[in-house]
Amino acid sequence: MELVNKRMTKQKRVILDILRNTDTHPTADWIYEQARKVLPDISLGTVYRNLGVLTETGQIMELNYGSSYSRYDGNPNNHYHSVCLKCGRVKDLEMPLHKELEKEVETLNCDKVLYHRLEFYVICQSCQQKEKDKK
Ligand code: ZN
Ligand code: MN
Repeated sequence: MELVNKRMTKQKRVILDILRNTDTHPTADWIYEQARKVLPDISLGTVYRNLGVLTETGQIMELNYGSSYSRYDGNPNNHYHSVCLKCGRVKDLEMPLHKELEKEVETLNCDKVLYHRLEFYVICQSCQQKEKDKK
């Protein structure tokens, strides 16, 4: 039991480290590839399980995009993102949270707002450049 727990803790720490050291908002597959460099025996299922636990305990954030793969964020504090509709790149936006939006919604329909997510859909700089180069 002791050994199993130690292994789980190690796996979780490796996955958390990977996420804290990137700002690319990677998919589970990418995290799995990185984790295998440190823990060659780790399985994709284990990576998913640990990502679930880390999300539930509020240590990371899952960015769910419906039909496409979820991305994971090592920064669990609410912040805004831009998503490139061409290449799928997810970037952090260095701007303050607009808490007043939550008040506005509460005033509108009397529900208690817990948090909000805000995302901007963009064509990123490098995709814009690629478009220009084609012409
Ligand atoms: Zn792009
Ligand atoms: Mn982020």
